[in-house]
Amino acid sequence: MIITLKNDSEEKQLKNLMDWINSLGLQTHLVKGENSTVLGLVGDTSRVDIGLLNSLDIVDTVTRIQEPYKNANRKLHPDDTIVDVSGHCFGGINFQLIAGPCSVESEEQVLTIARAVKKSGATLLRGGAFKPRTSPYAFQGLRDKGLEILLHAKKETGMPIVTEIMNINHLPLFEDVDVIQVGARNMQNFELLKELGKTRKPILLKRGLANTIEEWLMSAEYIMSEGNTQVILCERGIRTFEPYTRNTLDLSAIPILKEKTHLPVIVDPSHASGLARLVAPMSLAAVGAGADGLIIEVHNDPPHALCDGAQSLRPEQFDELVKRLDVMLSVVSKVREK
Ligand code: PEP
Ligand code: MN
Repeated sequence: MIITLKNDSEEKQLKNLMDWINSLGLQTHLVKGENSTVLGLVGDTSRVDIGLLNSLDIVDTVTRIQEPYKNANRKLHPDDTIVDVSGHCFGGINFQLIAGPCSVESEEQVLTIARAVKKSGATLLRGGAFKPRTSPYAFQGLRDKGLEILLHAKKETGMPIVTEIMNINHLPLFEDVDVIQVGARNMQNFELLKELGKTRKPILLKRGLANTIEEWLMSAEYIMSEGNTQVILCERGIRTFEPYTRNTLDLSAIPILKEKTHLPVIVDPSHASGLARLVAPMSLAAVGAGADGLIIEVHNDPPHALCDGAQSLRPEQFDELVKRLDVMLSVVSKVREK
């Protein structure tokens, strides 16, 4: 971290600032130039409050030269992290397809969709039992019963399951869940993240509706700082001024994340676009941009889905998409598990 000081700063103020920084366990290096005075901070600056520094009378600018996230930072961990979900690997050259309904509606619905998407090439099954809905009057999910149905589908198909947690008190119910999803609305539920960090379960961390990449990585850091390194990031679109799509898929987040972090990155084209007809082009684009996997909503009867029917593919559309994905995967030298 580099602090540029104002030209009129007094020696006493400077000494006070340096003493305070030293008291935080950091070293200071002072460089007095002809036109400006610069203070370099060496050590773990993640605990330094930039806002506070900026507010001091003698400070002109503060520049971070190291990101505030450590565990998630590629500089400190150059190799890709591989998250292994019962033998299905995310990261590196591996590519995984997660598919299933938005919400668990019935045993028959989940099993029908699970069997179909497995046949087409999906390796993990998604489905929400606890649903974060904007309206309290909308379908809230089958909750514990929904988890039971997912676990039954896991047993029947052998597919690991991915499902969202909204309340840390529900954690005991997630014991046999393979990947715990933290949805966009909970990306900054720090208490939830810390508790999930104490587990050793793979966590699918979705990007918040209006969060920067750095904020997202700081949320990953919350999980990792508690010891759980099994984090998969999921870009699911962000809020912009564009109303033609539900969200705007930020594809540039993928190559940026590949530079900044070693964690695997997957894309959710369903929530990103909100429209079934955009799911295939956005999936292909995500693969082209370097995604390590996709999570796609598939429903056997989209017009009657209890949640997100408009963005759900029919099983035959999903099947067609997987074939097209394989062409794109060969271009980027990724290997889809079959
Ligand atoms: C979901 O995956 O069903 C979901 C609610 O996603 P998001 O948190 O990205 O909106
Ligand atoms: Mn959904």
